Amino acid sequence: MVPILTRLDVVWSVDTGFATLGIRGGWGIINLEEFNRAFLGRWWWKISSGGPWCGSAPILHNYYHHQPRWNLWRTRSRCCSFWQGLFPSLEVFRACLRSIVGNGNCTLFWLDNWYDDQAPKYLWWEDFQAVTSPFTTVREVLTGSLTGGLGLDLSLASVRSRLISTVGDCPDSKRWKLTQDGSFPVRSFYRFLIDRGLRCNITPVIFKCPVPRKIAAFSWLAWDKKILTLDTLFARGCNKLPTTTCLLCCSDEESCDHLFFKCPIARGLWTQLAPLFAFSWSPSSYSNLWGSWYRELSPHCKLSSSLIARVVLWQIWLARNNCIFNYVFISTSALFLKICYMYLYWIPAVPPREMHRLDESIAAIRRCIQFSDSAHKVLDSDEHDDLGGLLLLLGFCGHL
Ligand SMILES: [Zn+2]
Repeated sequence: MVPILTRLDVVWSVDTGFATLGIRGGWGIINLEEFNRAFLGRWWWKISSGGPWCGSAPILHNYYHHQPRWNLWRTRSRCCSFWQGLFPSLEVFRACLRSIVGNGNCTLFWLDNWYDDQAPKYLWWEDFQAVTSPFTTVREVLTGSLTGGLGLDLSLASVRSRLISTVGDCPDSKRWKLTQDGSFPVRSFYRFLIDRGLRCNITPVIFKCPVPRKIAAFSWLAWDKKILTLDTLFARGCNKLPTTTCLLCCSDEESCDHLFFKCPIARGLWTQLAPLFAFSWSPSSYSNLWGSWYRELSPHCKLSSSLIARVVLWQIWLARNNCIFNYVFISTSALFLKICYMYLYWIPAVPPREMHRLDESIAAIRRCIQFSDSAHKVLDSDEHDDLGGLLLLLGFCGHL
């Protein structure tokens, strides 16, 4: 159901599912006031981007003294009640707008976000304080003489030379900073208004995977370096062990990045799994794992690789705890088999429509298990009853 606008600053919703989470079929709107502002941001987008809209003319006439539509900075102080709801979101809207400089005629040098997505007034604050008019365009400033810090900046010099030498007339344009393609969806603006731009982009990536909740929570805590590794315990003054040395390799201090990525055991696991899951290189740290490593995964192996990454993290943590609390050291080959079996164990949780993306990895893992003599050795070991139970369960469920 579409919200009903009676006035610009009031939204009435007649749909009881309006605030229901998106995954349950609702809109996921938790703040109607902010949603209304985001909704009205669409009007600002039409004005600033030059899109066809009959409302542009009266707004520019009444509140901008017929200024060009790309200059949304000089507003009249008074505003009629009908339009009042439009202006509270304007400052935030301008902050989310990126200007692409073409000929420099339609971009404000000091106020628009055109220099590395920032407004130069924040970069050269002292120079900005000395200017007589903040509404000068990029062309007007850069084709004149540059003084102070402006004259020393290489990027400005590059734009200046381009503006002087460019033949033709490439117009400036506006892009929306919150989306990759530069378009304006109301949803992105609403999210920005809700979290004030502080939303963590990594958290949804970590939780967006068909794994048990506690595994997802553990991955997130480890990424945030909140799990109780020995270096963290030592820093808090509650380390019961006399050392912070990693007990799996005894070669370095146990930290999140060491335990899961730099420890020889962890490195060996990642190296073994790389050809099975078709990722070209192994992550070297937590920020690296959910950053460049995850981004550079090819689409067809993104799900399987991100799934096995969570298994690796969880099983390394269990092996470490087993070593510390039960004095049981598990070999790399046994740990690798545990990882393989747990991966297969989690497969049924993957939605059927996504299952075809896991076919290759499942086949590779099954081949590894089939030809591994270690599996039987591990099964015979009394120290790994949990794995034996897992193997029997998997066999019972038909995964082997
Ligand atoms: Zn280690």
